[in-house]
Amino acid sequence: MLRIKKELIDKIAKQGEKGYPYEICGFLLGSIDYNNDIREAVEVYQVENQNKERANDRFEISPKDYIRVENYADSKGLSIVGIYHTHPDHPDRPSQTDLMFAQPDMSYIIMSIEKGKAGNWRSWKLENDRFVQEKVEIL
Ligand SMILES: [Zn+2]
Repeated sequence: MLRIKKELIDKIAKQGEKGYPYEICGFLLGSIDYNNDIREAVEVYQVENQNKERANDRFEISPKDYIRVENYADSKGLSIVGIYHTHPDHPDRPSQTDLMFAQPDMSYIIMSIEKGKAGNWRSWKLENDRFVQEKVEIL
């Protein structure tokens, strides 16, 4: 499950509305309790969507950004616990491409942005190579 502060959800919503009609993406930083499968997010870190050709329905994170965020997290004693991105005018369900790039033990927040306004969102995680919706606790 994912535990996340309400203010972080508000931040993702704002970034998503600002980035509309393109997908925006970023990292969830915090701590992971592997034994109990609990990820707690205390910070969000937006990175640039590197997919310019299909930014309306794809997102891509550069290895450079990945390393930069990892170093930043390290310096604050945090871990990367997940990745968030938006779906402009599409439901908050993972796409086939989302599945292709997903990694285990991470939370994937997908937020739908409907006509420029933040809508539904859910968190997903990989289970046996498929995405399943995970429980979320708002802090
Ligand atoms: Zn997606």
